Order: sequence, then C-alpha cells, then structure tokens
Amino acid sequence: MSIIHVHDKSFQPYLTAEMIKTRIKEIAADINKDYAGKRPVFIAILNGSFIFAADLFKELTVDVEVCFIKLASYKGTRSTGQVITAIGLDTDIFGRDVVVIEDIVDTGKTLSEFLPQLHHQQPSSLKIVTLLHKPEATVFPIPIDYLGFAIPNEFVVGYGLDYDGLGRNIPAIYKLAE
Ligand code: 5GP
Repeated sequence: MSIIHVHDKSFQPYLTAEMIKTRIKEIAADINKDYAGKRPVFIAILNGSFIFAADLFKELTVDVEVCFIKLASYKGTRSTGQVITAIGLDTDIFGRDVVVIEDIVDTGKTLSEFLPQLHHQQPSSLKIVTLLHKPEATVFPIPIDYLGFAIPNEFVVGYGLDYDGLGRNIPAIYKLAE
C-alpha cells in the first residue's frame, strides 16, 4: 500500500483490509458468545458504519436483527460539534438487547447525545461496538464494550469513513499523511 489522495489531502496506509477482517472475526466471536440464546437488535449509525456493520453482521451466528439511524457531526476533517439526527430509529427497543454499531468514537459527542435517547426507551441491555476509538480525543467518555482498534488522535479515511464524502469505498484504513 502507498500514499493515496482524497480531495486535496494525502493519506498513508494505516490498517490493512486483512487486519480489519481478522479483528472483526474476533469481535464477532465475543458477541456470538455473549448473546448466545438471545436475539439482539443492532443499531448501525450511518453513514460511516455501513461497511463495518455489514462485515461484522456476516460473522454473527446468533439470531440478530439490524436497523439503521443516521447521525452526523463532521464536516471536512473537523467535528462541527453539532449532532444532527437525519434518519431516526423506527424500531421498538423496549425490553430488547441492543448493540449500537459505530465506525469510530472520537470525542464521544455523537454517542453521548444518542445513548440517552436509547436508554429512555428502556432496552433490557445496551452495548456499544465500534471499529475505531481515539482515546486521546475523548471529551465525553463512552463505555465501549467491543473495540476493533484504539488509534492515535489522527484523521482517518477508508472502510466506510470519508473525507468530505469521498474515500468510503477504500477497502483499508488510511491516516492523514504528515
Ligand atoms: P464524535 O462524536 O465521537 O466526536 O465523532 C464520531 C463521528 O465523527 C464518527 O462517527 C465519524 O463519522 C466522525 N469521525 C470522527 N473521527 C473521524 C476520523 O478520523 N475520520 C473520519 N472520516 N470521520 C471521523
């Protein structure tokens, strides 16, 4: 893998497709064990998590449901600090085992605003799975139950993550080149 260009910026290789695939299998194994005999409903947060959600879902062997919501707080390479709900939740989660699927937890703002809305609907349990987490960027601490990779506080693209709309189709993850 070598340097790639998305819009006006250069990105360098960071996590290969193979590393991501291997880690997803491990996370799925944990989820399959933890939810054996249950029927959890996964809530994938669009847009960024769509590829991770699909790949994770294919590795799940327990009975699972999925639905999607759309939240956004990013413009360019900076969080706008405003979390907008563009598509809301259409599934009744009262008394359900719920797992939220995120692509990346950065400041934690998105989930800190969204999770109380879910708790309000009284699921019987609520867990978080995220492919990436930037611990150094934490402003709103979020309990992460299943984590793919902890990464430094750097902007990444690929594997569903975009830079101004582009780069989501790149099969690996790249970080902003110095
Ligand atoms: P938070 O609300 O935790 O600050 O940010 C969460 C959202 O910001 C993620 O779901 C993702 O859409 C976006 N985000 C955070 N860090 C990055 C990054 O490094 N690259 C990209 N492409 N999006 C990011």
